Amino acid sequence: MKKHNFSAGPCILPQSVFREASQAVLNFNGIDLSILEISHRSKEFIAVMEEAQSLALELLGLQDKGYKALFLQGGASLQFLNVAYNLLENKAAYLNTGTWSSKALKEAKLLGEVVEVASSKDANFNYIPKNYTIPEDADYFHCTSNNTIFGTQMFDFPQTSVPVVADMSSDIFSRKLDFSKFSLIYAGAQKNMGPAGTVLVVIKEDILGKVTRIIPSMLDYKIHLSKESMFNTPPVFAVYVSMLTMRWLKNLGGIEAIEARNREKAGIIYREIDRNPLFKGFAATEDRSIMNATFNLTDEALKPVFDQMAKEAGINGINGHRSVGGYRASMYNAMEPESVQVLADIMKELENKA
Ligand SMILES: *Cc1c(COP(=O)(O)O)cnc(C)c1O
Repeated sequence: MKKHNFSAGPCILPQSVFREASQAVLNFNGIDLSILEISHRSKEFIAVMEEAQSLALELLGLQDKGYKALFLQGGASLQFLNVAYNLLENKAAYLNTGTWSSKALKEAKLLGEVVEVASSKDANFNYIPKNYTIPEDADYFHCTSNNTIFGTQMFDFPQTSVPVVADMSSDIFSRKLDFSKFSLIYAGAQKNMGPAGTVLVVIKEDILGKVTRIIPSMLDYKIHLSKESMFNTPPVFAVYVSMLTMRWLKNLGGIEAIEARNREKAGIIYREIDRNPLFKGFAATEDRSIMNATFNLTDEALKPVFDQMAKEAGINGINGHRSVGGYRASMYNAMEPESVQVLADIMKELENKA
């Protein structure tokens, strides 16, 4: 039975990528060895790593602009600490828009002064704060571009002379932005780029080398850069599958093409949420995410009926995060609009039944 996988992460990837990756497990590039057994220093894997790094920069439009791409381990969660280790000397500014922002802020506090410029915690993070001020003497400003759990997304980024750092784990490569406005972007692979096990870090090199603390090797961006993500054994399979997904995206027409499709998908689900009296959206309308739609039933008693309908339709992974409840439909790049339509259709059908 065809499944429609709305899982928030790890999540859907293109079917063609699954096929190619499974082939590579048996016989990688016709060399009669598995991708899982070759040396990360082999020319075959070095080519994978180089292509992955170059595709990441190309898709973001950051080639030849002073940026480098790294594929590291420890997930986005280790980047919460990593960023502070490498950039926080005196003071950092954080915008708190959800669970992941709060965790990033907590780690940064281990290393220096952190100013929370604004927070939407007062409303269970259902909106993105606006009109906050970033202290001009901050070493950097950190924000989360898409709040995976609450279903909000930043559409405006502040104009500031302070370097901007963004956790783009759940909307990397999903929409066009002027990425050169960011000094550092990181994204755990398992939301929109590949399997769990690696995190993409895109760094403008000139922001490094300004802190006085001693940085442990594994946390030092400069060391990873000097070794081109090969300071130690990289997560070869996760990097390989991420590379395949980026290739797939490039062949599809890149970020612009996928953004149009992502907007179409978001349109399908939000139109139904807005139209259907049995559902209400969680996130503030102007801030709602094109990646993760959060919504609730207006009558909780309908939950068993709706859950059964979803199951019968092959829908997977729409339960909301425990801190929000209700439902969350994650519609990452690889999801076809048809799958979102299946979900919208059963929401409509529930209305006819109720
Ligand atoms: C999932 C997620 C994280 C955590 O990623 P890990 O790779 O599991 O550490 C951080 N930030 C955002 C926005 C996320 O969606």
